[in-house]
Amino acid sequence: MNAQEQKPLEEILGFLDGKEKVVLSGCGACATIFRTGGIEDLADMKERLETRGKEVIGTIGMPFGIFACYLPMSSGFYEQNSDILEAADAVLGQSCGDGIQAMREYLEEEMGIVKPIYPATNARGLSSGGPVRFDERCQACGDCKLGLTTGLCPLVQCPKGLLNGPCGGTREDGKCEVDPDKDCVWVKIYERAERLNQLNELVETMEPHDWSKQTRPRQLERKPIDLEEKLAGTKEALESMGI
Ligand code: SF4
Ligand code: SF4
Repeated sequence: MNAQEQKPLEEILGFLDGKEKVVLSGCGACATIFRTGGIEDLADMKERLETRGKEVIGTIGMPFGIFACYLPMSSGFYEQNSDILEAADAVLGQSCGDGIQAMREYLEEEMGIVKPIYPATNARGLSSGGPVRFDERCQACGDCKLGLTTGLCPLVQCPKGLLNGPCGGTREDGKCEVDPDKDCVWVKIYERAERLNQLNELVETMEPHDWSKQTRPRQLERKPIDLEEKLAGTKEALESMGI
């Protein structure tokens, strides 16, 4: 998931200076889980902006499971709300920057709506876990090394990003030199390799990482999924788990 947190209200109000009619647009996926852009979060933002004199002329809330960044799902919400989007002085995006830019591009290129769009959130990287705590574990480097590091990513979990760790500073209690509250990931990699009886595989020196795979912006093309079929499968699986 794309971890995110809400920007301070004063920063958002700064963006909206001189813009009176505002539309709030959320996301039913990561932004709902991180409580930045779910339907309730939009209602909360509406109330706070109205208290500060803004006129929120509409909210585009997406039910849970609708990804703002996946246009086959989110674009229908923009189409349904074309009237308020047309009337707005500004749109406040309550999702990660990816979802916000997908919306901006769709509004401009498919609907011909050109409006100032501002972010209400700060994205914090690919993270997993929940329901309360989320840890960043991957930076989508494009050349995954987990197969060589017992399934723990040193590029993300080591503050120095060392592929051939540990550094010389690991603390005696196995904590990281940079952050004494965190375990040294290379100690964890060593311990896991020991449990897996794979210590001999750690002897090899890893080649320098191929950062060219992370040259941005990256682009991929894929055969489209059958959304209806996938959603039916999700419903069935959730029901079988009693959710
Ligand atoms: S090596 Fe780390 S950053 Fe790269 S894809 Fe694998 S988990 Fe993600
Ligand atoms: S102590 Fe471990 S995690 Fe911390 S910087 Fe050194 S190798 Fe990386």
